[in-house]
Amino acid sequence: MDTMSKRILIVEDEARVVQLIRGYLEQAGFQVGSASTGPDALVQFDVYRPALLILDLMLPGFDGLEIARRIRKKSDVPIIMLTARAEEMDRIIGLESGADDYVSKPFSPRELVSRVRAVLRRAEGGLSKATMLESSGLRLDLEKREVWHNNQPTDLTPLEFDLLALLMENPGRVFTRLQILESLRGVTYESFARSVDTHVKRLRQKIERDPQNPELVLTVYGVGYKFAPLKNNHGAL
Ligand code: CA
Repeated sequence: MDTMSKRILIVEDEARVVQLIRGYLEQAGFQVGSASTGPDALVQFDVYRPALLILDLMLPGFDGLEIARRIRKKSDVPIIMLTARAEEMDRIIGLESGADDYVSKPFSPRELVSRVRAVLRRAEGGLSKATMLESSGLRLDLEKREVWHNNQPTDLTPLEFDLLALLMENPGRVFTRLQILESLRGVTYESFARSVDTHVKRLRQKIERDPQNPELVLTVYGVGYKFAPLKNNHGAL
């Protein structure tokens, strides 16, 4: 999917959340605009002409549902709603806001980007190629969040998945533990407080031929970790 020309409008009054989402979307190749109130959102929608709207439910002025309702009167633009609590989704669906997808806070920014891609692809008729990461016998479907290792489906926790995706998207680049934690911030995994080292260890047990002598997710002593694509790909891909 050509995302270069795709503009996304984030409607959210919390600057920290906007900044977080913006960073991830820009990294994924989107252009990003933002609005912090309901009235501002309606103006921005007309001026900015986004391909997709990310709409927070709780906003000053009028809320995300009201914005969605008003925009639906004049446009079929895909809308992803952000909600503070999972229970609110039922309410949103019940009210038939016209939203295309829902993400409850706190959320994984990487997963939100996956949802954005999926919703845009659906809106475009579903003909675009899925977003896959493939290297060294590993295959990650970033939209379905599925992993295969040597053609075997592999169960990773959400954090392990995001960690592996981060490293595989930047093969050879060394990430410090702090960079890894920062990259995964905004997510609420039960195990978030556990050290990066522990997550790497568990990930290795799932994807390395010999977890004691890792070939894919390598330790860079005194710095952090990196993904090293195999020179001789012995995977079945
Ligand atoms: Ca808000």
